[in-house]
Amino acid sequence: MEKTDIITRNKRETATRNPSIYSLTLEELQAWMVEQGEKPFRATQVYEWLYQKRVSSFSDMTNLPKALREKLDDHFVITTLKTLVQQTSQDGTMKFLFELHDGYSIETVLMRHDYGNSICVTTQVGCRIGCTFCASTLGGLKRHLEAGEIAAQVVKVQKALDEQGERVSSIVVMGIGEPFDNYDELIKFLKIVNHKKGLNIGARHITVSTSGIIPKIYQFADEGMQINFAISLHAPTTELRTKLMPINKAYPLPKLMEAVRYYIEKTGRRVTFEYGLFGGVNDQIEHAEQLAELIKGLKCHVNLIPVNYVPERNYVRTPREQIFAFERALKKHGINVTIRREQGHDIDAACGQLRAKERKEETR
Ligand code: SF4
Repeated sequence: MEKTDIITRNKRETATRNPSIYSLTLEELQAWMVEQGEKPFRATQVYEWLYQKRVSSFSDMTNLPKALREKLDDHFVITTLKTLVQQTSQDGTMKFLFELHDGYSIETVLMRHDYGNSICVTTQVGCRIGCTFCASTLGGLKRHLEAGEIAAQVVKVQKALDEQGERVSSIVVMGIGEPFDNYDELIKFLKIVNHKKGLNIGARHITVSTSGIIPKIYQFADEGMQINFAISLHAPTTELRTKLMPINKAYPLPKLMEAVRYYIEKTGRRVTFEYGLFGGVNDQIEHAEQLAELIKGLKCHVNLIPVNYVPERNYVRTPREQIFAFERALKKHGINVTIRREQGHDIDAACGQLRAKERKEETR
């Protein structure tokens, strides 16, 4: 075992700490203030310090009485993430490997678009879903992230952007982990970042993606949130989807489509189907035809993702011409389709690659 592996293992074994204050919704923080004999408006002040002024110490919250600052310090921590690796692509995409308090590591990506800065956050250390094309699932699930550890990723990247006078304008929950496998913390995170006194990121600028945990799709539809919703589909038939995504055995495609229909009817919102193109596997015209049949009549959009070569897995890229042919075949059926712009292809861009490379102990 390498020396760094021993150090991080020791950190995990000795890691006990107060809860992260980033994990509290404003309402929870107000309730805590009242319990402590404080006025609820103190919670709003704390929120402003955390999310607008982005301080990393309670002692910096100078408009709070000293006794309250000490009390906060006794009960909570302000989660700070240690940057282990930071990569910047030629196109401006930045990928971070952050270390958590217990030594585990997570990835966060900042993407630069014409319309603003988008951040892709991680919801779990590792993942137990086992998609065959994904490096994030190597080594399985280590633990769920708390809402505050997800929010801390946004705060950390926003702090980096503060130096350039820019802001995070949208969030995609598509990093390491299956968000619906950590549902309660995910919902809390969404409330925290969406809150006007929090990071104030509009619901319509936040996208959550799932591999298809069906009961949670129904639950999410009933939440009444205006968040964008995406399904990692990647295959148009049950047989092919099971080969690519073992979750399809537990939650088969026909049932998944029923849940998607329920979501659209309940929310009136459009669903995005993420479809990764894997050379020679799911990228033929017959697959496009099957996909068109599967989603016909649905209020939806297909996002084609030319998948990078994943060294840990044996998938290869779909040739450029084939990508366009696939897109044309869908368009012929009137399907709303886009091809995801490639970003960060000169860094470890695919989800989980950087962690797999840098943290071998966690991913085997
Ligand atoms: S694609 Fe998402 S759900 Fe599937 S293994 Fe990777 S992180 Fe987990």
